[in-house]
Amino acid sequence: MAASLSSSNGIAIETGECTFRLDPGRTVKGDFNVISHAHSDHLPRGGDETAVIASNETLLLAELRTRKHYTSASHESVSLLEAGHVPGSKMIMVKDELTYLYTGDFCTKKKVYLDNARPAKTDVLVIESTYGLPDYRFPDPVELAGVIRDWTADALSLGRHVVFTAYPLGKAQELQVILGGMPLFADDSVLRHNAITMGGQDAGAGPLAEVGNEPSVIVSSSRNVMVHLPSAVRRNALTATASGWCLDGAFRGRSGYDEAFPLSDHCDYYDLMEFVRGCGPSAVYTVHGFEKELAASIKKELGIDARPLRQRPKGQKKIDSY
Ligand SMILES: [Zn+2]
Ligand SMILES: [Zn+2]
Repeated sequence: MAASLSSSNGIAIETGECTFRLDPGRTVKGDFNVISHAHSDHLPRGGDETAVIASNETLLLAELRTRKHYTSASHESVSLLEAGHVPGSKMIMVKDELTYLYTGDFCTKKKVYLDNARPAKTDVLVIESTYGLPDYRFPDPVELAGVIRDWTADALSLGRHVVFTAYPLGKAQELQVILGGMPLFADDSVLRHNAITMGGQDAGAGPLAEVGNEPSVIVSSSRNVMVHLPSAVRRNALTATASGWCLDGAFRGRSGYDEAFPLSDHCDYYDLMEFVRGCGPSAVYTVHGFEKELAASIKKELGIDARPLRQRPKGQKKIDSY
């Protein structure tokens, strides 16, 4: 009897002998709980403080972010592959009679501070579809890093401060690496994440309390940071952010930032299609974002059976059995 795949409490793979729970909302004792990375929508929000399968960085970040203690587990059928999304992020491969690959959030483009995800042969692929529309084509992150560095250096040379708003895990560290050598400051949340993700080094960023009059770069997880800065700094600051959503015209119009860079931690549509091709699966399930649209493209362009993981045929509890 082959395993079944369902989307209740994370992605559940039940083999008959045991259950693997990938990114469960609640950890379940007795099951093998696996966490792809430490962004909050992938971390357990409840359940026991139990053993989980995750990278060391993800375990430490999970503790920082959930204030729960997780110990490290392993299973001979589970391997963690580089996801290229944020520090510690992994794709999850489960080998039973068939091989299952769950990408979590992932990025196949090489970044200045992270290795990229690569396709791996699998029978069943569960793939994130955050940017699963052909409208999304992201620039090369290393080239974009050069653009961000130049723009920031120009602003500093004109005597301006630059305030970047960025996710405290991932984007904040990437920006600090890109802007390395400049006078950097970061809020407490970013500094706490740096301490885990940058191998215990502090990326050279100082605390906000030390921001002075000399033009400097401030990396913050919140736009509210402005109220914590001296008024002379505030008046003289340019604001910027970095996200894949910056490609949306609506975002640019509404955001109110002086500059918005389309630096993404995810695959764009073309990366996603290329990845599916490289994995050669016989079935694909899409999760997050443009699930229906990406599944339709995979079917049409690649001729591979694909559908949203959440979409179950009527009356059927499990979406599929193999
Ligand atoms: Zn993520
Ligand atoms: Zn996510």
